[in-house]
Amino acid sequence: MARTIEAQLAELRARSLYRRLREIDSPQQPAVELVGRTLLNFSSNDYLGLAREPALQEVACAAVQKYGVGAGASRLVCGTLSPHMRLEEQLAEFKQTPAALTFGSGYAAALGTIPALVGRDDVIILDRLAHASLIDGARLSGATMRVYAHNHLGQLESHLHWAREHHPDARVLVITESVFSMDGDRSPLREIVEMKSRHGAWLLLDEAHAVGVIGPQGAGLAAESGLGLEIEVQMGTMSKALGVSGGYVAGSRKLIDLLVNRARSFVYSTAPPPAIAAAAGAAIAFVRSPDGAQRRVALWKNIRSLAASLPLFAKEPQSAILPIMIGPEETATAASEHLLERGILAPAIRYPTVARGRARLRLTLSALHTPEQIATLVEAVRRLHLHQEAA
Ligand SMILES: *Cc1c(COP(=O)(O)O)cnc(C)c1O
Repeated sequence: MARTIEAQLAELRARSLYRRLREIDSPQQPAVELVGRTLLNFSSNDYLGLAREPALQEVACAAVQKYGVGAGASRLVCGTLSPHMRLEEQLAEFKQTPAALTFGSGYAAALGTIPALVGRDDVIILDRLAHASLIDGARLSGATMRVYAHNHLGQLESHLHWAREHHPDARVLVITESVFSMDGDRSPLREIVEMKSRHGAWLLLDEAHAVGVIGPQGAGLAAESGLGLEIEVQMGTMSKALGVSGGYVAGSRKLIDLLVNRARSFVYSTAPPPAIAAAAGAAIAFVRSPDGAQRRVALWKNIRSLAASLPLFAKEPQSAILPIMIGPEETATAASEHLLERGILAPAIRYPTVARGRARLRLTLSALHTPEQIATLVEAVRRLHLHQEAA
């Protein structure tokens, strides 16, 4: 007999893998309102506190007044609204590439871009910890996939050798991230760029958690390393440090022209609301401004302060994501519940977001957290008496 939905849910509960939604009745900010209760929020990717920045709200409201709320259709069908065009010009300038294209989300950017670039006769080489959107895009493309252990340059190189030997005419696309979303560490970008260039492969770099946080004017890891021009496809999202919504790809004019024609999540999806594009443009301007630089200084001060106060973090922090490795799913869930009882929102990240038995508390910081709020978190985590698993 076919299994029931109840049975599927019961199985998730039995394995401590069940998830549910928690309603928040306030903006994303360091203290959020959980229906009737205030919680300290250490779970948001709104690293610079832009999700409720008044300057961005004003730009969004003005754009609603001028353009209304909906975009009408796909940009190829009913004409492309000015806010989307201006945003793409800003993105290209920010990322120092000739062109850029926006999508409804970062997930949609990955799902549309990867299959537009590679197909059944091609090869994708992917870091094991790559985000689900990159894995799903790679699967959808039908290309042959090879996975290398996280940040393992030796395995990456042997996959590149293998691809060149067995698929001499294939397009070979290496896919990795600047900052890994559940571990918070960075990829060895210089070495990866050197290696893929030597083997005639392309690189897709997902800067989702780096933009706004790392690099000159917050432009990301490629900009910090001075490698932007050597990376064929720079991808990212406007939903994290930029505080708004939407995905993007930045690269050559030819690349963008191809995506306009072939990326199905662009072609067959209604354009994002124009006010969202306008707000994202204002977010980029903010991030590049002296105010943005100040927020980055405040964010990094908070990151260093938290890392210094909790001996649980093995290494120097490399981003605003500071995971506490726990291991068993039920221990991580219990730790998260204990923190919730003490008024702290810090999610247990479990399979399938991370590997089985690699559950963790994923703490993220904002420029707007106060020293007192961080002290409250530190005290509550110490009281958990965790024995952190080796990373
Ligand atoms: C969040 C994230 C995405 C998806 O971006 P959304 O705009 O939230 O859809 C893609 N890649 C990485 C690495 C991410 O962390």
